[in-house]
Amino acid sequence: MMVPTHLAAGMFAGAGTVAWLQVPPLPTVWLLLGALIGALLPDIDHPKSWLGRRLPFLSLPLSAIFGHRGITHSLLAVVGMVWGLHQALTHWDLSHHWRWAGVGVAVGYLSHLLGDFATHGGVPWLWPYTQRFSLPLTFRTGSWFERMLFFAFWAGTLYLLILRFAPWVLHDALALWQRLSP
Ligand SMILES: [Zn+2]
Repeated sequence: MMVPTHLAAGMFAGAGTVAWLQVPPLPTVWLLLGALIGALLPDIDHPKSWLGRRLPFLSLPLSAIFGHRGITHSLLAVVGMVWGLHQALTHWDLSHHWRWAGVGVAVGYLSHLLGDFATHGGVPWLWPYTQRFSLPLTFRTGSWFERMLFFAFWAGTLYLLILRFAPWVLHDALALWQRLSP
């Protein structure tokens, strides 16, 4: 998938997590920021990717050793990330903000792998076994279907965030109205 679609999918996954865990407003901002970063993180193994161009000291050795869509797109990376997140949440003295951002990164990362899993290219889930797997129904990167997905993800994100925060906003607006009315 292309960068804008990965970002949209990351936001959608983040908003789903926010709605599911009933995350409060400010942590939501941190979680969504984390999800945006997580959504681009797996392509750090490609020097020409958005993130890879900005962090060549990471992307160049990673792509030389593992190749694009290698270890960063595998179950090994998922397990490593979940383990790392668990370690960070239980052993590190992190502020609330960083904890939510960490959850967001993990959710965004997963959304990236599932996104690539749905494209023709597929992902090597069982890396170092290099066979790539993709869904039975796939789409081509940059196709009209991907453009439709982009809008669907943003619409879904908006829907989930409204679902989560509309009662809260309405409640506050009502309280403000009552305070201001004579
Ligand atoms: Zn990728």
